[in-house]
Amino acid sequence: MKNGCSLCPVKCGVDRKSSLGYCGAGENIKIAKYYLHKYEEPIICGYNGSGTIFFVGCSLKCAFCQNYALSRNETGKEISPEDLAEIFADLQRQGAANINLVTPTQFVPKIVKAFEIYRPKIPVVYNTSSYENIETLKLIDLYADIYLPDLKFFYPETSKRYTGKNDYFSVASAAVKFMMNSKKRVIGSDGQLKQGVILRHMVMPLGINDTREILKWFAENNKNGAYFSLMSQYTPYGEYEKFPELKRRITKREYDRAYEEMLRLGITDYFLQELKSASESFIPKWDY
Ligand code: SF4
Repeated sequence: MKNGCSLCPVKCGVDRKSSLGYCGAGENIKIAKYYLHKYEEPIICGYNGSGTIFFVGCSLKCAFCQNYALSRNETGKEISPEDLAEIFADLQRQGAANINLVTPTQFVPKIVKAFEIYRPKIPVVYNTSSYENIETLKLIDLYADIYLPDLKFFYPETSKRYTGKNDYFSVASAAVKFMMNSKKRVIGSDGQLKQGVILRHMVMPLGINDTREILKWFAENNKNGAYFSLMSQYTPYGEYEKFPELKRRITKREYDRAYEEMLRLGITDYFLQELKSASESFIPKWDY
């Protein structure tokens, strides 16, 4: 990054050596936690869990973010690429099924440096809001085996309301297409995903219209055996009080309607979540 940063679609142009970007990121990698996480989709959890590393900062900044302190840069510690390489090795020693990079976009060039120092022997998962530049994805694509993208909103009015950005779906759907083109599904002899894409969508209160369009888009564009993960874990959090519809969890009826639509569209490779997954107790403590 010689001049201002343009790693993500915000392209805020900040010189991160002297200031923080819109995403909250400065020059150095910052993380808030790493551990073996057992509650991702079962196909990426293995026996011991997914070796999950939570990066601090976010360029999308959903008002209801379930990891609010991370996305608003209110926690975490700065580390070097060498430290990150050591974390990869540590998680691998602990028996992690994979290395799972959560909201890593703002640090991609330094994460690449860490991979140049130490390349884990287990798959690497790139876990993102999908608000991504294709050029940045190309940098990480050599090292990523599995993409775990969200597709959050379809309508510009919805993404504008919750993130301030009109262009979310056009940017994110192009990013997900890139990911699906790049990674064909490969399942190991242990039944675990070694390469591929799991597209996540969290059903929102009163969000069924966006959900329907996203399911339709996936049914029409799915390539190379990508999975669909229909999530029910929305919990009122962050700035939810500004939005009357966000003050409650989703209902069984809302989740069932999304599920029925998924089946109607012929999507057969999917993951579901139990409604009891929606609880603040499932939000990790930031203790790195
Ligand atoms: S990654 Fe952060 S600093 Fe870079 S352009 Fe995006 S918001 Fe700005």
